[in-house]
Amino acid sequence: MRSRPHQDVLVVGAGPVGMTAALLCADRHLTVRIIDAASATARHGYSSILHARTLDVLGEAGMADDLRDAGLAFRDIVLHESGEPVAHLTPPSPAPFALAIGQDVLEGMLLRQLARRGVQVEWSHRLSSLSVRDPRVEVVIEELPPPPSNATALPRPTRTLTDHASFVIGADGHDSTVRRLLQMAQTSAGLPEVFAFLDLQVDSELPRELHIELAVPTLCLPLDSHRCRWSFLVPSTSPHDLSRHKARAEDAPCSAQASVFDRPLALRLLAERAPWFRPVPTSLRWSAAARFDRRLVTSFGKGRCWLAGDAAHLASPLGSQSVNLGIAEVDALVSRIVRGVRGKEALGSLASFDRDRLRVSRSMLGVAPLLASSDRTPGWARRQLSRVVCSLPASGDDILRLLAPLGFVRAD
Ligand SMILES: Cc1cc2nc3c(=O)[nH]c(=O)nc-3n(C[C@H](O)[C@H](O)[C@H](O)COP(=O)(O)OP(=O)(O)OC[C@H]3O[C@@H](n4cnc5c(N)ncnc54)[C@H](O)[C@@H]3O)c2cc1C
Repeated sequence: MRSRPHQDVLVVGAGPVGMTAALLCADRHLTVRIIDAASATARHGYSSILHARTLDVLGEAGMADDLRDAGLAFRDIVLHESGEPVAHLTPPSPAPFALAIGQDVLEGMLLRQLARRGVQVEWSHRLSSLSVRDPRVEVVIEELPPPPSNATALPRPTRTLTDHASFVIGADGHDSTVRRLLQMAQTSAGLPEVFAFLDLQVDSELPRELHIELAVPTLCLPLDSHRCRWSFLVPSTSPHDLSRHKARAEDAPCSAQASVFDRPLALRLLAERAPWFRPVPTSLRWSAAARFDRRLVTSFGKGRCWLAGDAAHLASPLGSQSVNLGIAEVDALVSRIVRGVRGKEALGSLASFDRDRLRVSRSMLGVAPLLASSDRTPGWARRQLSRVVCSLPASGDDILRLLAPLGFVRAD
């Protein structure tokens, strides 16, 4: 076993949430190490929407221009019920309300930003054990061989290394090792759902509008002028691979997720769910299906070890809540860790982080009500409130502002 110099923070997981955590640590002059068991960034644009609040966080980290150039900003949101438009929501502020950008593009951008700060993601490094020995956390990390293209079994480590850090941020996804090692419980926030995704090229220019069908949850997001992402809730009996596995940039093309749509199935779903959609599909660029559990931890962590992103909560993919909540979490967490490392705040003060983030997550996952209706609220909006809240590309006060014209007020 080899040992390395002490770090202020070890980030476990280099998805969008973990890389943002490492970036914020570097910007706040903390020493940081970031590891990931996978061999590279995501190959596809899985999660595809950044909320206004997330754009602020990444903008402060110097990414505003890159995001504007690579993404598609949109403001208008059209809600439909059973194929009929029921509301057109326009945010009050003229600033971009949300940005469509693929997870693969975002991860590539974060990787470059980290490299500019001298932080390299250590791919093929898997956390296997962790123990808190105040004032530090000791960890064991396994170095993995490059994966063979057809690997299904867990790779065996080639080397085992020990390390220690003042804090550990577990941004290691839905099957979080950090969460398991800390024995942190999760509660259900609703029944699991299966979504099928389809990236479609079309023959005519797409309006910069997000369309959400509420009756049978469906979302249409423009990705560029002639390409859009469809997300369809489908029956859970789907025969396809529903694991949350993500293809990686270095995977052989043949190991990419199997396509779940053929053209006739895609056209049938479009006709059934979105009779209002006029552009004609010219090609299917990508498709996949995945099961989305709805879960929330009972605590985000304690003392020196904390969770963020999918490691802490799993939500419907429609509003891209889990990634955006995760980025807000690491923003709040790293600010407090800075104060902890500089001795300006006791570890106990991190308990308020836990309380704040549990409150926000409960309302976004529909466990606690965020909004209440008033006598101005139309019937369809009362019926669909929880679906609307989790499908909108916004959280907290932004949701309130967006839905105020429908007569919604803050729930007490
Ligand atoms: C087909 C598909 C479609 C999707 N569509 C959407 C969508 O439309 N909208 C949406 O919001 N979300 C979508 N998602 C989910 C989205 O990709 C996740 O919510 C997002 O990746 C979560 O980001 P994260 O940074 O929290 O975790 P992740 O991106 O999962 O990153 C966690 C990282 O931790 C690493 N890791 C795990 N264990 C260890 C360990 N022991 N040691 C070191 N590293 C470890 C993993 O390799 C991984 O890279 C989709 C997912 C799939 C599979």
